[in-house]
Amino acid sequence: MQYIAPLANLIEHFRALPGIGQKTAVRLAYHVLDMDPAQARALASAIIDAKEKIGYCNTCFNLSDQNPCAICASDERDHSVICVVEQPQDVAAMERMRDYQGVYHVLHGALSPLEGIGPSDIRIKELLGRLQDDTVKEVIMATNPNVEGEATTMYIAKLLKPLGIKVTRIAHGLPIGGDLEYADEVTLAKAMENRREI
Ligand SMILES: [Zn+2]
Repeated sequence: MQYIAPLANLIEHFRALPGIGQKTAVRLAYHVLDMDPAQARALASAIIDAKEKIGYCNTCFNLSDQNPCAICASDERDHSVICVVEQPQDVAAMERMRDYQGVYHVLHGALSPLEGIGPSDIRIKELLGRLQDDTVKEVIMATNPNVEGEATTMYIAKLLKPLGIKVTRIAHGLPIGGDLEYADEVTLAKAMENRREI
C-alpha cells in the first residue's frame, strides 16, 4: 500500500477522469490536500452543483439548467432552422461563432456500426419529432468531419428528403478527422457559410 486510504481513493477518482494519467492524478490529489478547507469544499460543491442543476433540454437535448433551454425558449432565434450536432460541446463552439441565429439538435453521438451505435442509440427519433409541423424549413448537418459524422449525416439526410425539408451540410473548412468542439471561430464560420445542400 503506497498511499493511505483516503489519499489513494482521491487519486483513483482523478485517474478515472479523461486525459489524466497516474502522475497527474497524484499531483492533483496532493494539490487538493494543500488547499484550505473552504477551497476544497467549494471544489466539491461545484461538482455536485453542476451535476444536480444541469440536465438536458427536452427539445434540443443540449445541456441546460432550465427546460426548455434558453436557446429553444428564445423569440430572437430562428426556429425554422435546426443545426444538428453530435455533442453539447459543439453547440458551445457554434455559439462562440455568434453568426448562427437558428436553434440546435444534439444527437449525443454518431452512428458507428463498429462500436455498435445504431440509429436508436442517438437522438434521431427526437429530431424527426421536431419536424412534424411545418415550422422547420432547413436542417443544417454539423456532425464531425469523420467517418461516423459523415455516415450520420447521410442517414439523416435520407430520412428527411421525403419530408421536403432542405438539408444542408457545413463545408469542410474543418480539419478532417478533427472535433467540431476544437475548431476556431473563423474556420467554423467559413464552414457554415459554405454549407451545401445534400
Ligand atoms: Zn433546447
